[in-house]
Amino acid sequence: MRGYSSAAIAGLLAMVGAASLGDLCTVSAIQEALPANGTLLGIDLIPSSVTANVVKNATAGSDMGSGNSDSTKTYDYCNVTVQYTHTGRSDAVSLWYFLPSPDDFQNRYLGIGGGGYSISMGSGGLSAGLAYGAVAGTTNGGFGDGFSTSADEVNLLGNGTINYEAVHMFGYKALGEATVVGKALSRGFYSLATDSKIFTYFSGCSDGGREAWSQIQRWGEVYDGVVAGAPAFRYSHQQVGHLTSNVVEHTLKYYPPPCELEKIVNLTIAACDPLDGRTDGVVSRSDLCKLKFDIKSTVGTPYYCAAENHYNPGLGFSKRHSKRQSAPAGSGTSYQPAQNGTISAKGVEVAQTILDGLKDLQGRQAYVSAQPSSDFADAQTEYDNATSSWTLSIASTGGEFVKRFIMLEDGDNIDSLDGVTYDTMVEWMTKAMVMYSDSLQTTLPDLTVFSSHGGKVIHYHGESDSSIPAASSVHYYDSVRSVMYPNLPYHESVDALSDWYRFFLVPGAGHCGTSQSQPGPWPDNLQSVINWVENDVAPDTVPATVASGPLEGESQPLCAWPLRPYWSNNGNAVKCEYDQASIDSWTYSFDAFKLPIY
Ligand code: CA
Repeated sequence: MRGYSSAAIAGLLAMVGAASLGDLCTVSAIQEALPANGTLLGIDLIPSSVTANVVKNATAGSDMGSGNSDSTKTYDYCNVTVQYTHTGRSDAVSLWYFLPSPDDFQNRYLGIGGGGYSISMGSGGLSAGLAYGAVAGTTNGGFGDGFSTSADEVNLLGNGTINYEAVHMFGYKALGEATVVGKALSRGFYSLATDSKIFTYFSGCSDGGREAWSQIQRWGEVYDGVVAGAPAFRYSHQQVGHLTSNVVEHTLKYYPPPCELEKIVNLTIAACDPLDGRTDGVVSRSDLCKLKFDIKSTVGTPYYCAAENHYNPGLGFSKRHSKRQSAPAGSGTSYQPAQNGTISAKGVEVAQTILDGLKDLQGRQAYVSAQPSSDFADAQTEYDNATSSWTLSIASTGGEFVKRFIMLEDGDNIDSLDGVTYDTMVEWMTKAMVMYSDSLQTTLPDLTVFSSHGGKVIHYHGESDSSIPAASSVHYYDSVRSVMYPNLPYHESVDALSDWYRFFLVPGAGHCGTSQSQPGPWPDNLQSVINWVENDVAPDTVPATVASGPLEGESQPLCAWPLRPYWSNNGNAVKCEYDQASIDSWTYSFDAFKLPIY
């Protein structure tokens, strides 16, 4: 290009219609690119709020549903924020978009989910779109200035008064609006014809996975491909369920030392690892573990853990708590003395009762538990120096939900479990299900709008997730299957569903990532759903790569539910097999409730 001035080059580019990122990424150009008010019903954009700046040489991030991005590749993008208000409501909601350089844009939009009570992962999540040539978008839900106010900070207007707008914005509305505005902005920004296709995706894990399902359920016509990981849906059961382990301990009057439960988990992993056909440190068949391994066999085994300052992150729900003066039980750092003992019959009883899933006082099933080989995160106890004993530590994940979302009182946790029985848990779940059925529950099983529009969804879940039970995802898959195809026999309904919805358990993985205790594979589901949507390549399996441990770098295909993996050929190949007894072990009917639980 020597011999041409930059102005001349810009002029030449303008003549062929290719504007530079610098030309496009100005406040006035973005104001011009935004959809005119009146075109998006109920959304009044505030052009004067626009910010825009070019960012150069950025590396792509990774949301939890996308794969390992190439850290050597860099991207230029336009960093945009804009606010809108809802017609007739004097609120202000902030939107945030990363728009790739026109050279990199591949006609894709990607909505990014949050986690815990956060609706946004901020810039880290947005940069995940760069590796896929996608405009990425997020929202602050209108919860406060910036993008860091979480929904549990604003779900109450005062004690006893629900902030319904915030609850519905968090539930499904804000992310759908962010996508609708983001697609329109993309059309204006890249000068696309109004009828040109923008492939529209959403990816998230944990609450982001719930948000992903909220978009399929509520904005089904908007999305072409969705990656939904370890969804925190069935919100009433999921959130109250975080207290199940503590209620079991309290009911059985035994508070196991953390080392005792850890030993039970480690012995479970060791015993169940080979059941999948390969001894590789990963329990790829927690169902066979459930059917064949009895944790009673661990009674009497010695355990030892050295003294430590134990940090409990509160399962990603601790952001709000970190602002407080004192960390509540369930998150923060606590001193644990050396633990030396043998696994007790009482410890095994607590563990087994947790693994059986919540039952009411009549023995009727109320909810699922994490799979055997998952750790007992919600069962963590606290050491009381005064009495030199292990005591109840109420999981703040569950306790805060009961306090703020059911009792409607400002607070981080409930004070005690005195008087709380298994029936109380069922009452709380029922109450929350009714209160939030139209906002947070996120288990609508009729997905006709999404499927008939051609949408594809990859749903995945770490099989050893201790925060959100993998069986919770199996139950929803089956709800959709039976509601969408009520007249088809089982196998035919699975086939019909697989045209647009496939579900993958990730062997050994924990909550939205691989686990240290079982270093197994992790998939790039976003690339798989893009191939499905844009190239019609349906994922019979999804490719996954082991990211750490002795098998680092190994590639493993993940089996599509209801098929289960089995290592054959002396552990050299994964076969995806149909095993009725295994499938049945994942199947629950929640007869503790009169309403159907989807
Ligand atoms: Ca194994």
